[in-house]
Amino acid sequence: MAQAAVDISLDAIRANVAHLVSGTDAAVMAVVKGDGYGHGMLESARAAISGGATWLGVCTLDEALDLRDGGITAPVLAWLLAPGLPLHLAIEADIDLSASSAGLLAEIVGSARAAGRPARVHLKVDTGLGRGGAATADWPVLAEAAAKAQVDGSVEVVGVWSHLARADEPGHESIDRQLGMFGDALDRAHRLGINPTYRHIANSAAALTRPDTHLDLVRTGIAVYGLSPVPGRDFGLRPAMTVRATVILTKRVPAGHGVSYGHTYVTERDATLAVVPLGYADGVPRAASSAGPVWLAGKTRRIAGRVCMDQIVVDCGDDEVRAGDEAILFGPGDLGEPTADDWAAAAGTINYEIVTRFHSARVPRRYV
Ligand SMILES: *Cc1c(COP(=O)(O)O)cnc(C)c1O
Repeated sequence: MAQAAVDISLDAIRANVAHLVSGTDAAVMAVVKGDGYGHGMLESARAAISGGATWLGVCTLDEALDLRDGGITAPVLAWLLAPGLPLHLAIEADIDLSASSAGLLAEIVGSARAAGRPARVHLKVDTGLGRGGAATADWPVLAEAAAKAQVDGSVEVVGVWSHLARADEPGHESIDRQLGMFGDALDRAHRLGINPTYRHIANSAAALTRPDTHLDLVRTGIAVYGLSPVPGRDFGLRPAMTVRATVILTKRVPAGHGVSYGHTYVTERDATLAVVPLGYADGVPRAASSAGPVWLAGKTRRIAGRVCMDQIVVDCGDDEVRAGDEAILFGPGDLGEPTADDWAAAAGTINYEIVTRFHSARVPRRYV
């Protein structure tokens, strides 16, 4: 029996994807980067496919190759590629590659020649995020090089794509502005002979709030795992991750007792303290010291004092709590337990970061 575990509901992932599929005419890509946002890449990918996703999205070449090694045959797009990678491995494994620069496109062309077959490419344009994608000024050069490589038979331009900066703020004017820029980039590419099957710009937030962004494909990540991409808005998704641990020690201490490193928390009255064996090595954010909520003996309590590497302490007041009791850090909320959103608020971050952190080798992930 594990004294701490991360439980993943594959049914929840399947149902969330089915919900996303039912809400769009576009193809649904399940984004499984970052070890499936902490839920396990392969298991999440398989559950997403059974829920109706027809594409998978990852960042790195290694993530994409791991999907293929895991027996997954669905189309996979990898979009975060450093210069000098063995891209022929991707081409041989039928992995789609994103190109944001003429330099990377040239590498893809060289690798396609080495592989003896065309590479499947998605050209990425920066429509305002200011991160990946070709700058507006560089787009015609990239598109032209891709058109030429397509005529030469070394690439097939499968997609043209971009990413939104503020889709989590529905109604924000930047969304319209980026869509307009994307349309311009597509027109430009079209005039150069690029007619992609897949035009894509929507993430989870856009998939759930802006049907006009869906185009041919939506790239949904956080929604697949049942969390809301728009803080405070409920889209009827089911959180897939529950983090639990067994209380390993309880004790009575008098009022005025310092708790954990630095004594940043001091008991106000006599209290029962419970020691829970999860810490920042396991994903508990240290920023949630004296703030993170823990469900224990039927109610939500707060972490007392600093989060340590391996453990946290919970002040249970005068309640009956014993070693062996189960503590839940967060889950879907069915019992009234905290959610990843509650943890995000307590730690000053976003739900994405909370779930992605829980991937410690010593905390088993269990599929339920
Ligand atoms: C991570 C990522 C996504 C998924 O974003 P969510 O907000 O989790 O839906 C989509 N596209 C790109 C380029 C990404 O990096």
